Amino acid sequence: MTEQACRECHRIVEGLVCPICGSSSLSKDWAGYIVVIDPRGSEIAAKLGITLPGRYALKVR
Ligand SMILES: [Zn+2]
Repeated sequence: MTEQACRECHRIVEGLVCPICGSSSLSKDWAGYIVVIDPRGSEIAAKLGITLPGRYALKVR
């Protein structure tokens, strides 16, 4: 199964709807991959607006 990334919050999503923001705007065309463990201690998480731990794509087209 191809994992998709949410276009709204960049979360890697395994279903049809993003569990974080509820968006169904998902893309298979994404690049980069980060695992956020502590969003408050991560500069990259702050840049992407990530507030929850999880897996995220850096770029979503
Ligand atoms: Zn989302």
